[in-house]
Amino acid sequence: MDNPKLKLTRRQWLNSVGATSALALLGGAHAFAATGKAKKLDADVIIIGAGLAGLQAAIILEDEGARVLVLEADNRVGGRVHTLDHIEGRPEAGGSEVGSGYARALSMLSRIGSPATYKWAEAIQLPFALHIHGKLIDPATWEKSELNDLPLAERASFGMGPFALAQTTMPRPSPLEDLSSWLDPRHADLDVPFDAWLKNRGVSDAALRYLDAIVPVDSAREISALWQLRAAKVSPLMGSIDSLRSLSAGMSRLPEGMRALLKGEVRLETPVSAIREKTDHIEVVTRRGATLRASRVICTVPAPVLRTMTIEPGLPPLQHEAVQNIAYTRGLSIFFRVDKPYWEEDGMPASTWTVGPLGRVFRHSMTDGGYYLWNFRSGISARGYERLTDAEAGARALSEFIAVRPSVEGRVAPMAISSWDRNPWTLGHLPVRAPGQIKRFGDVLGKPHGRLHFAGDHTAVLMTGMEGAMESGERAALEVLQA
Ligand SMILES: Cc1cc2nc3c(=O)[nH]c(=O)nc-3n(C[C@H](O)[C@H](O)[C@H](O)COP(=O)(O)OP(=O)(O)OC[C@H]3O[C@@H](n4cnc5c(N)ncnc54)[C@H](O)[C@@H]3O)c2cc1C
Repeated sequence: MDNPKLKLTRRQWLNSVGATSALALLGGAHAFAATGKAKKLDADVIIIGAGLAGLQAAIILEDEGARVLVLEADNRVGGRVHTLDHIEGRPEAGGSEVGSGYARALSMLSRIGSPATYKWAEAIQLPFALHIHGKLIDPATWEKSELNDLPLAERASFGMGPFALAQTTMPRPSPLEDLSSWLDPRHADLDVPFDAWLKNRGVSDAALRYLDAIVPVDSAREISALWQLRAAKVSPLMGSIDSLRSLSAGMSRLPEGMRALLKGEVRLETPVSAIREKTDHIEVVTRRGATLRASRVICTVPAPVLRTMTIEPGLPPLQHEAVQNIAYTRGLSIFFRVDKPYWEEDGMPASTWTVGPLGRVFRHSMTDGGYYLWNFRSGISARGYERLTDAEAGARALSEFIAVRPSVEGRVAPMAISSWDRNPWTLGHLPVRAPGQIKRFGDVLGKPHGRLHFAGDHTAVLMTGMEGAMESGERAALEVLQA
């Protein structure tokens, strides 16, 4: 690999494995637990959060002889990977697609026993019908459609209508040399509002209006162009749409399989409220008031949850400011049961993508036949749903759906809702960076603070999503081993 950062990481890994293997020769698991002090500790390392970041860190540390204790607030492992096993079709409420560049996730899947997979692009019906300017059209007709208000240079759509603009407006080749270059101060001038940067590059106002509905925040003004360039840089590493895979039995089988590899305890329904560093150890206080002690702590909770926790001594000012201000997108999934094939009624593809409040609705094939619909909303399409009950959200989504595709009336019904904004252990969907936040905060969110280390997708440097979460867990585990 040409990337010096990747080389460094591998070298650090080899160094740490070398160091800990030497310790293991001197006493195996006792490498961590040999001292009198260690005996009084509840674990060598306490890991807060049993999402992919926390489980990845726990497995690496345990492989190297550490006694780990994982504390998880929820009643299940997986965090933002959550298969709704109790709903027909077992829809995914969180992370589901694994790309060909997901080295850690793929290697972990083979370690837990290579579960069966299916091709994501075959399960989701593509292409989708487009709903634009109040009309439902076939995406193949968009380029020449009278509804297409884009200038000639922006009309090409690769069968995705204006949704292709997210890709076609990106410069090729990318100004970012490698995966970690988004943090390089040389690129700080790109940490500006995405809309202003695109306008400067000659993108039309009409295209910018569509992009407002495509970005995962309320408007392209609210997201950093450098963050979008980072996403575009990672995207080819995830692989082509054909290489995206999901687990046939549900993505939750990945974190559950990881948990099964651990000898140490994963204590569920144990929310942590405070972390306190002492002279020769670190304490974790649970909401029920128990105090647990360890040599090191790895905290993997999403930044909006970290804001609610007490950390003593407090984080350095810049890290504190980053935790308080890092932006998260909204994320809402509404799953519909399909009682009758409405697409036979209106003759359009069953999946629908809109620039309006409905967001996108994908038809998903179930492994044992039949379909369900996944209405995913982020940015403006999720706005206003925060305060609704599930029943109110389902009814509102259904009426928005009927307005776009009258043929769904009486043929589909909401069956499950998942809101990551309302989930008290997430309080948001995915981390993003607002303009100026990369220049100001860099990678400070992942910096260790004494005996306290941080992981989670918000601290990943190279990859994003599930692979980013696992990368961050690996980095934090290496920090602990090297310490
Ligand atoms: C709808 C959706 C779709 C997605 N699709 C994809 C995809 O297709 N591909 C992809 O790669 N990624 C995808 N992602 C992103 C991916 O799921 C996440 O990036 C990844 O799972 C984050 O893992 P994590 O361990 O960093 O955080 P989390 O999974 O959020 O784990 C944090 C854990 O900490 C626990 N916790 C929180 N507070 C406390 C506390 N006080 N005490 C103890 N425990 C606590 C939480 O319950 C949780 O289990 C998607 C995400 C969502 C929401």
